[in-house]
Amino acid sequence: MKAEFASCELCPRRCRIDRNAGFRGFCGAGDGLRLFRWGPHFGEEPPVTGKNGSGCIFFSRCTLKCVYCQNSPWSWKGGGEDVTVARLAEIMRDLALKDKVSNWNLVSPTPYLPLIREAKEILAAEGVSLPFVWNSSGYERTEILEEYRDLCDIALFDLRYSRNETAMRYSSAKDYVETARRAVEWAWKNTKPIVRVLVLPGHADEAIESLAFIANRVSREVPVSVMCQYVPSFMAKTIPPLSRGVTEAEYHQVVESLELLGLENGWTQGFGAADASNVMLGENMEPGSGTIR
Ligand code: SF4
Repeated sequence: MKAEFASCELCPRRCRIDRNAGFRGFCGAGDGLRLFRWGPHFGEEPPVTGKNGSGCIFFSRCTLKCVYCQNSPWSWKGGGEDVTVARLAEIMRDLALKDKVSNWNLVSPTPYLPLIREAKEILAAEGVSLPFVWNSSGYERTEILEEYRDLCDIALFDLRYSRNETAMRYSSAKDYVETARRAVEWAWKNTKPIVRVLVLPGHADEAIESLAFIANRVSREVPVSVMCQYVPSFMAKTIPPLSRGVTEAEYHQVVESLELLGLENGWTQGFGAADASNVMLGENMEPGSGTIR
């Protein structure tokens, strides 16, 4: 029973329903933890992957729910298994001590933050600690980021849209743009951000607008990760233009804008590369593996 669940406002949806009493809000999370998958992962950006991989923990449910989601079996449909806080602590302990991962990478953690903190405290009492990566859509409340600052050593946030009409159409989030941009600004001031910009088919202009926001309103030093790995998934298979892939011309248009905007920190992906491995921009980042295990 967590006080934060009694009238849940952990994400910008602010459902204010009582998860302790069995009600479920937009994300569909209950009053306990639910995980889909966990393990070392070598496909993140080099500073996150590190030497031994990033200890990814994929939480079931999601606060954004995009029509093109590649993770719909657990983000939309809630696949996975219910676990206790003690079990989450055990998973995190194994990742840290057996797999020797570089960090705990919390993928879509927001509905479960109070329970994740409990697991962290169990491990802290044992002297087990690692940096936390908060890996999300960027659709976060800054008040909650502030409250759970201890779970955010690296903010791996997306900027998916630059227009709310698109955010509403594809992710039912009419306030996505200002909300995610505030989250990125918070991350730049308070922790280490990496901002992911996924190029969507037919929306390369929005990716460029998101990069322009970073360059002009946050800092040209922010590490950015421009991604071309979009493939039509889930409902997007029948929604043009999301029903096709990103063209090489669209992707290059976005990559070319990086130089024009003076963004030199971060990575792009090789277009059409089988492993979509990261290619380093500038010279300020540690190189690393782009292979996904
Ligand atoms: S975490 Fe889930 S229940 Fe809580 S406000 Fe967000 S969508 Fe609603």
